[in-house]
Amino acid sequence: MSGPLAEVIVDIAASDVDRVFHYLIPDHLAGRLQVGHRVLVPFGYRRVEATLVGFAERTDLPPERLRPILALRDPVPVLTPALIELARWMERRYLCLFVQALRAMLPPGARGEGVRLAPQRWVRLRADAGEVRAELEKLRARAPRQAALLDILLQAGELPQSRLLRQAGASHGSLKALVERGWVEIDEREPAPGLAGPLPPRDVPPPLTEEQAEACRRLGESLRGRGPRVMLLHGVTGSGKTEVYLRAIAEVLAAGRGTICLVPEIALTPQTVARFRARFGDRVAVLHSAMSATERLAAWRRIRAGRHPVVVGARSAIFAPLPDLGLVIVDEEHENSYKQEETPRYHAREVALARAGIEGAAVILGSATPSVETYYRARSGEIGLLRLSRRVADRPLPAVEVVDMRREFEAGNRSIFSRRLHHLIEERLAARQQVLLFLNRRGYHTVLLCRECGFVLRCPHCDVSLTYHQLPSGRMQCRCHYCDHRQVPPTVCPGCGGRTIRPFGLGTQRVEEHARRLFPGARIQRMDADVTARRGTHEAIYRRFAAGQIDILIGTQMIAKGWDVPGVTLVGVVSADTALHMPDFRRHERTFALLEQVAGRAGRGSEPGVVVIQTYTPEHYCLEAVRNHDYEAFFAREIEERRELSFPPFTHLVRAVVAGTDRKAVERAATGLAAVWREELAGRAVPGGEVTPAAPAPIERLRGRWRWHVLARAREREGLLEATRAAAARVRPSWPEGLLLQLDADPVSML
Ligand code: ADP
Ligand code: ZN
Repeated sequence: MSGPLAEVIVDIAASDVDRVFHYLIPDHLAGRLQVGHRVLVPFGYRRVEATLVGFAERTDLPPERLRPILALRDPVPVLTPALIELARWMERRYLCLFVQALRAMLPPGARGEGVRLAPQRWVRLRADAGEVRAELEKLRARAPRQAALLDILLQAGELPQSRLLRQAGASHGSLKALVERGWVEIDEREPAPGLAGPLPPRDVPPPLTEEQAEACRRLGESLRGRGPRVMLLHGVTGSGKTEVYLRAIAEVLAAGRGTICLVPEIALTPQTVARFRARFGDRVAVLHSAMSATERLAAWRRIRAGRHPVVVGARSAIFAPLPDLGLVIVDEEHENSYKQEETPRYHAREVALARAGIEGAAVILGSATPSVETYYRARSGEIGLLRLSRRVADRPLPAVEVVDMRREFEAGNRSIFSRRLHHLIEERLAARQQVLLFLNRRGYHTVLLCRECGFVLRCPHCDVSLTYHQLPSGRMQCRCHYCDHRQVPPTVCPGCGGRTIRPFGLGTQRVEEHARRLFPGARIQRMDADVTARRGTHEAIYRRFAAGQIDILIGTQMIAKGWDVPGVTLVGVVSADTALHMPDFRRHERTFALLEQVAGRAGRGSEPGVVVIQTYTPEHYCLEAVRNHDYEAFFAREIEERRELSFPPFTHLVRAVVAGTDRKAVERAATGLAAVWREELAGRAVPGGEVTPAAPAPIERLRGRWRWHVLARAREREGLLEATRAAAARVRPSWPEGLLLQLDADPVSML
C-alpha cells in the first residue's frame, strides 16, 4: 500500500502499543492534517485519541487492515513538529514511553472529553454612530429591546453576547433581528486567559550597569549566531539579572522570534509577572499552576497562533508551542523544582537545552548559585559564561557571621538561639526593624550529631550522613541510603570521645514556641508547608510582612526565594546543619544555594543587613564560602569531592524504585533487577558502570506500598541508558502482577 498515510501515536500508556501506527487519510481531511494534530482513530474495537506525529508513503500493513482516521479533534495542531521531535528525545533520555512524553507536553484539557472550549461570542456595531442613533429612535416604540441593545452597544462599542443580552434584558430573537438587518455583527473569539489582570503601565528600561551592558553585548552576539549558543549568566543576588533577560527578549522579539522564560513555581509571583508585562504588554503569556484547564488551553492556542511571543511560566512551560522559538531562559537554573517527580521524570533545564538545540534557539541559564553540573559545563567551555559580580547601585552584599554552636554548648547555653543571635534579635526589635529566621525544611532526616565537637556519623563508602532509624524490634540503627551500609549507633562520639552524640533535627514549630517565650512583645509569624497549605496564605503573609506588620518571620525554603522586603536587616539561620548533613550528594550545593539565597533577603533597603548562621561545623568549606560570598571557592572544593566520589558531573545516575504491596516480592524483584542490571552494564563494557545492592528506599512505605531502590551509575550516559532499558525489559515480564518499576534518569530526590 502506498500513498500518503498518517503516522499516529495512540493515547494509551502501555509499552506494547507505544509505537507508530499507520492510518488512511479520509477525503474530508485530505490536505488539512498537520504534524501535531490531535485525531480520533479506530483502535481494535475502540475509538481512541491519538497524536499525529508524521506522514508515511508506505506501510507493511495489508490493505484490509488499514483504517481511516475518524476525525480531527481540534482544527489547530496543539503540538509543533519540533515538540514531537523533543518527545522522541525525552523518551530516550528519561526512559519513558513516547506517549508519556507527548502527554507531558499537552496542556490539560487537550486530552479526553475534559474541556470544551466554548468560543465566546462578541457583538459589535456595523454602522456608524449617527446612523445607529437614527435607527435607535425609530425602534424605541416598535422594538424597545432592539433599541436597548443598540443603545448599550453605542456606549460600549462591543461586548460579549451574554453580557449584552443580560444588560439589555433582551432575548436572542431581538439580537438575531439586528444581525439580519445588518446593524450588528457577531464574531467568535477564544476566551481570554483571564490571569494577569489589567496591564501595568509601561516601564522605562533603566540605563544598564557596566556589567549588565557587557553581558547584553555578548548575549547579542550569541543571539546573532556569533557566540556560544548556551550561556550561563552567573550574577549575585540583586545584580540585575532580570534586566539582562528583558533586554535579550527584546532583541529576540525584534528579530520576529519568541522566548520562553522559565522561573521556579514559587517565584512566579505577581511581582515577577508584572515586570515582564510592564516591558512587553500583552505579548506576554503567563502559564502557572493556578490556571484552570480552560485558561491554560486558551493560552496554549494563542501561543501556538503566535500571539504571545513571550511565555513566562514554571517547569511545564518549556513545552509551550511557540511557532518560532529564538531563546529559552531558565532563571534560577539550579532549582530542584525544575525536576518533575513523576513520569516522565524530566528536568526542565535539560529539556530546555534539548529543545533549543532542535529549534536553533539560544539559551540563558541564570543563577547566583549555579548547579555544579552547569558551572562545570561553563568552566570546561561547553557553554559560555557571563558574570554580574556586583549588586545594582553598589549596594553591599550582607555581612555573614558564622556562630559556633559547640561553644554555646560549652558555655552552658541550651537555647535554640546563640547569645549573638539572641542579642541581635533584641536589638532589631528595639529599632523596629524586621527579622527573618530560617530553617531548612522540617528536618525529618535525623542524623547523629555530637554537641561537643560537631561530629556527624557518615557512611564509610559514600560519605553521606547515615540516618537514624528505629527498627521494628525497638533497637536503633544507622543506615546509608546510597549503599545500604548499616551499623549500630555509637554511644560515644568517634570524633572526640564525648557522650552527647544524639539525633539532631529541628522544626519550625519548636522555633516559633521558643521565640514567643523569649520575645513576648514581638509579632511573630510562622510560614511553612503546614501554614500555607491553604491557598493564598503565602501571599497574605508576604503582604503583612512587607507592610511591617510582622516583626519576626520564621520559615522554610519559601521565605528564601525572591522576597524583597527592605525592612529586613537581620536574617538568622537557626541551623545550617540539617541542610549540610542531608543524606544526598548534592547537599553542599543545596546548602550553599540556600544560604546565599536567604542571605540575599537581608539589607535590600538603605540599612545594611547582617546574616547569622548557627552551626556545629563552622569550619565547613560551604559556610566559609557563604561567609565570603565566594562561589568560585565553593565550586573548587566541591568539584574535587564529586570527582573523588564519582558523582555527577563525572558520572550519570539512574535510580530504580520497585514498589508493591508485598514486601518480600518487592525485595526479591529489586535484588533481581540489581543483578540483571549489573550484567547488562558489564556486557556492554560501559565505562565506570556499577550498580548498588538493592536496599529499602529512605521512605520505605508510601501510600501503602513497600519501596526498594537500586542505583546505577556510569561515566557514559548512552551505555547506561541502554543497559537500563535492557535490564528493565528482561526482568519485568517475570514480575508478579502489581509490582511497579519507576526509572529516574539523573535523579534529584533519593527519597
Ligand atoms: P537579580 O535577579 O539578579 O537578583 P534583579 O533583576 O531582581 O536582580 O534586580 C535587583 C533590583 O535592581 C531590581 O529592583 C531591579 O529593578 C533593579 N535594577 C536592575 N538593573 C538596574 C539598573 N541597570 N539600574 C537601576 N536599577 C536596576
Ligand atoms: Zn554508603
